[in-house]
Amino acid sequence: MNTQQIIDLEQQYVLGVYGRPPMVFASGEGATLTDADGKSYLDCVSGIAVNALGYGDPDMKAAIMEVVESGVYHVSNLYHTAPHARLAQKLCEHSFADKVHYCLTGADANEGAFKFARRYAYDKDYEEKYCILAFSDAFHGRLFGSLAATPRSKYQDPFKPLMPGVRFALYNDLDSARELVDERVCAIIVEPIQGEGGVNVATPEFLKGLRELADEYDAMLIFDEVQCGMGRTGSLWGYQSIVGDEVAPDIMTLAKSLAGGLPIGAICMNQKVADMIHPGDHASTFAGSPLTTNVACTVLDRIAQPEFLASVRTKGDHLRDLLAELNSPHITEIRGRGLITGVEMDIDVTPVVDQGYEQGLLTVSAGTNILRYVPPFIITEDELEQAVKITGNILQGL
Ligand SMILES: *Cc1c(COP(=O)(O)O)cnc(C)c1O
Repeated sequence: MNTQQIIDLEQQYVLGVYGRPPMVFASGEGATLTDADGKSYLDCVSGIAVNALGYGDPDMKAAIMEVVESGVYHVSNLYHTAPHARLAQKLCEHSFADKVHYCLTGADANEGAFKFARRYAYDKDYEEKYCILAFSDAFHGRLFGSLAATPRSKYQDPFKPLMPGVRFALYNDLDSARELVDERVCAIIVEPIQGEGGVNVATPEFLKGLRELADEYDAMLIFDEVQCGMGRTGSLWGYQSIVGDEVAPDIMTLAKSLAGGLPIGAICMNQKVADMIHPGDHASTFAGSPLTTNVACTVLDRIAQPEFLASVRTKGDHLRDLLAELNSPHITEIRGRGLITGVEMDIDVTPVVDQGYEQGLLTVSAGTNILRYVPPFIITEDELEQAVKITGNILQGL
């Protein structure tokens, strides 16, 4: 099948909830994807902040093959497997967490976190304590609970009624949060760095203030690290790039890059939350399979190395410096941490993304006027320079 035949087939049979550009990816190596016609693309999207180690990583391949050779890809959560236990240990040893619960996606992780927060309140006999405080421009997923905490009418309106009880305060505005928290709030959920909402970085005061608010009302503080976690910011957890270890959440949700491209999510929690969850409270058929957890062990081992994290910081700073040097009149702000960067423009960024396809560069928008760079962590400085050069060329023509 040639490129056009594949696209035709897809358009005939695959539900049209995505508008895809006209190429078909066939292989990848490092930070480069190659399409079925042999054209290469420098990837600053990473499958939406997922492919942390890029394409064709030999360690990931070895971890996959280890499970393939065992013949056991799945046993369900009814039984023990070694990678399942080992990944949980690694996640706890590298974080504030005491216990881990596996799931499959980011939305799945946040929905589980909401259930755990409600379970906590229920066991404490707090009557009517089921509300969740979320924030403007948040993105927590597209299922009924996570969508309810994702305040975008385009996403929400056609699917109402959603899960009730979600309140929205302004991101980075502690006073607006304080106004909306009372004893009925069982959880505060926040992205330490908003991804889809435009690469907005929380202030240290905001995260510290939310911790205090959560403590005051015995609500669970949930950090949604689905996009900003796993080294993306150059700290292992995104919030650490903002407040170090001065603040920790009660629950942290992970997915995207956790297994470098295989589908896995995790809900990491402290003992206070874990103590309130009992057998049968939550479950999943596929979650935490030997395949995904074995690969995640390998990815986490690589990313958690201090030198590796330092390289993410250096590359990210270099990228933002290069973007600033473009001096484009269209660029109004450049923000981010490590290898998550948002470039706010005075124009709709769609043509920048589209022309990137023609010139061999993959970028993605975060809202209409913010161009996002979330490359694999193994991208080289030369490749970043190449990416910025292409962006500069495109911007000059707009
Ligand atoms: C992508 C994302 C989600 C949803 O993850 P899915 O795997 O698409 O369900 C949730 N929260 C944040 C911060 C995300 O970036």
